[in-house]
Amino acid sequence: MQVDRRRFLFPIVGIVAVLVAAAIVVVAVVVPQRAELDAATARLAAAVGERDAAAAAVEEARAALLAAGDEASGLVAVVGRGAVADPATLDALAAVTVDAGEPPVTAAVPASPGDAAAIDAVTARVEGETAVLEDRVASLAADRDAVAGASRSVVASVHAWGLNTPTPPHAPADAAAAYTTALDALAEPADDADLVGLVTAFRTAFTTALAAHEVASRSLDAASVQPTIINGTLIANKTFRIPSSYGAGLTPETEAAFAAMQAEAASLGLDLYISSGFRSFASQEAIYGNYVATQGQAEADTHSARPGHSEHQTGLTFDLNSITEAFGSTPEGIWVRDNAHRFGFIVRYPPGKEAITGYIWEPWHLRFVGVPLATELVTTGLTVEEYFGITSAYSY
Ligand SMILES: [Zn+2]
Repeated sequence: MQVDRRRFLFPIVGIVAVLVAAAIVVVAVVVPQRAELDAATARLAAAVGERDAAAAAVEEARAALLAAGDEASGLVAVVGRGAVADPATLDALAAVTVDAGEPPVTAAVPASPGDAAAIDAVTARVEGETAVLEDRVASLAADRDAVAGASRSVVASVHAWGLNTPTPPHAPADAAAAYTTALDALAEPADDADLVGLVTAFRTAFTTALAAHEVASRSLDAASVQPTIINGTLIANKTFRIPSSYGAGLTPETEAAFAAMQAEAASLGLDLYISSGFRSFASQEAIYGNYVATQGQAEADTHSARPGHSEHQTGLTFDLNSITEAFGSTPEGIWVRDNAHRFGFIVRYPPGKEAITGYIWEPWHLRFVGVPLATELVTTGLTVEEYFGITSAYSY
């Protein structure tokens, strides 16, 4: 049987033609789609790379802030309030915390991997995360700078404290040199300096020099002993003496501050007057000697200073009104307790601190220390001895 091959040939040609057309369509449509997918995937990969770099930068910035915070709290622990000109700086440092939480990031897997539009949507989300992370880096860096700046200001403040604190005069040469060296190191510490170490070394050097000074001064006579000054505050107590020649009346600032306090008290109907002001070494010698003769030394020592140890010889101290414990309960005594610090005075021997100051409560005995220190002492409830970390006890 003769077969007409053309009858079969035509459909075959048709099928081939369809296949070729389909192939052309595949090449024309699918290949460009593939290229689009590849481009979208590449954009996503780049975005993820940037996002991961930003996330790493956040970790670095957090670590830097944590380190700055550790340094700051180390400084707060070492210096205490006494060495810082502005105690608010310490409060700010103590309040530093580093937020542990970070913005969440998306897993970089598109919802529909074959779809360029879906990949682009994920890319946009990743780019948004990068922006958030970069903001976080900037804010952590700003916090870090603020904390580091506060730490630097604490060190500057300790340095100023040192400049205001002469080398304890009777400290032996090696202790004096160590103090000067430690003080100089605080002047301009390098960027990578161990601030806590420097400040710790300074305080140790001062404490050592002060203790050596105190021991050496014990063997000196009253005329040879030199005054002890800590951050501008002249110290006269049972441990630290002032020279027998020291003092010549109340200082002008003490008199001016008393006049202001007296005037304000008078405007409230309160009568304040100085019943005992400056006392020379010689007059203190006579007063103390009289108490010893009548009461015995142990009793006399609870309320009267030995010559050279009296605050009355500093010119910064006076006794008010009646020199009796009852004064503390009078309107004048209560007002003085609550207001004297505004004029730069403290009730030097407060109740409950007898073992620290070495004296009974003396509501009448005021000491001028200036408004900032007086305010700080009243606010903290600390005595001069506690504030400066010193003792008040006779060594003889
Ligand atoms: Zn007194």
